[in-house]
Amino acid sequence: MNHQKSEALFAKACRYIPGGVNSPVRAFANVKEIPLFVDHADGAYLYDVDGNAYLDFICSWGPMILGHNHPLLVNGMEEVMRKGISYGLCTPDEEHLAKLICDAYRGMDMVRMVNSGTEATMSAIRIARGYTKRNKIIKFEGCYHGHSDCLLVKSGSGALTFGTPTSPGVPEDMVKHTLVCRYNDLASVKEVMEQYPDDIAAVIIEPVAGNMGVVGANASFLKGLRALCDEYHSVLIFDEVITGFRLAYGGAAQYYGITPDMACFGKIIGAGLPVGAYGGKKEIMSCVSPCGPIYQAGTLSGNPLAMHLGTLLLDYLKTHPHLYTELADKGHYLKTGIEKLLQEKGLPFQVHQCGSLLTLFFTDTAISSYDEVKTCSQDMFTTYFHTLYEEGILLAPSPYEAMFLSDAHTKEQLDYVLDKIALALDKVKRL
Ligand SMILES: *Cc1c(COP(=O)(O)O)cnc(C)c1O
Repeated sequence: MNHQKSEALFAKACRYIPGGVNSPVRAFANVKEIPLFVDHADGAYLYDVDGNAYLDFICSWGPMILGHNHPLLVNGMEEVMRKGISYGLCTPDEEHLAKLICDAYRGMDMVRMVNSGTEATMSAIRIARGYTKRNKIIKFEGCYHGHSDCLLVKSGSGALTFGTPTSPGVPEDMVKHTLVCRYNDLASVKEVMEQYPDDIAAVIIEPVAGNMGVVGANASFLKGLRALCDEYHSVLIFDEVITGFRLAYGGAAQYYGITPDMACFGKIIGAGLPVGAYGGKKEIMSCVSPCGPIYQAGTLSGNPLAMHLGTLLLDYLKTHPHLYTELADKGHYLKTGIEKLLQEKGLPFQVHQCGSLLTLFFTDTAISSYDEVKTCSQDMFTTYFHTLYEEGILLAPSPYEAMFLSDAHTKEQLDYVLDKIALALDKVKRL
């Protein structure tokens, strides 16, 4: 496959943009590639500037659940743009989208719009701290909640430690209130709660982790978290930036039947435009400025373009509930197809699938937390990625991401993908 034009653009971009990219995962450095530069996309396909076509399993990291270039969204965008682009004032779609989210999500009384997932989690944590008048938060190793300071942590040595920053520029002081526990390990949470019974403001979790590959929480683990948060009066925050309106219309909360105190959204709710949102119980959300004393603001928050597109998409998803069944069917079809190939080839790897999210882990270790995820082979993934890439199949260029399915992906396309996965696994086997 020829990537000449992408190469030239990348060389130029590196002059003006750090690493040539505006978000690190786009660099494709993990898989020893240069970034592809997109020209356009349609349905399940994405086309780069060199004219190569790819079946796209990144889907803008989740938002393009209907596939690219969907007429509903394209026409809606044109329509709203003609009225004006930005006012920094209230528009009717803000109420509409907030109502859609509150109606969809268990226990959600009020919601505030922001401009990214990072802002949503950062703000939710501030509100939880202000509401409980406590300082510490618990997060889980392997979960990603955006790049705000207090969340850029990993656990230190030992199971029960304060986090250490994962990036230069984050002072230790900024993460000293962040405690890191093990995913799917309730005992690790209980221990921390018992140690700081009066100072855990919030527990934040991806109820189905999508940022260490797809790792679902055990239902008993989530129920246990709910009970511990009730017992210690801590705020349970579900980070549904990936899972919200994707795993189910009501997100992971609906999928598991568990109601958090707060939840964060992003990705899908903007239909591809930059949006985030956080919300929860009225008692908590009433503390947010100007209703209450906790400050949080945004000049372009709730901007008319993103609100209109989000409204169109959620309205569509609400009235087409069969779409979730079909997405889960496709996910399951791919999972069982890959598992059959693994068995035929005698490869003991793990496939995790949850609705329209799927990850193939290159390890023989059963996975329930980041400890096991770390045993995956990067070399095997790189070979796998390259083989598929050359065949016109675009996966996220990292072993720790999900494959995202959309309504536009067909069974025929998935059969093609399975054919090529067979080829890729043969190469992996020869490594
Ligand atoms: C993508 C993501 C975020 C961060 O969202 P941005 O819009 O990239 O800031 C937060 N939480 C989860 C679970 C995510 O997947």
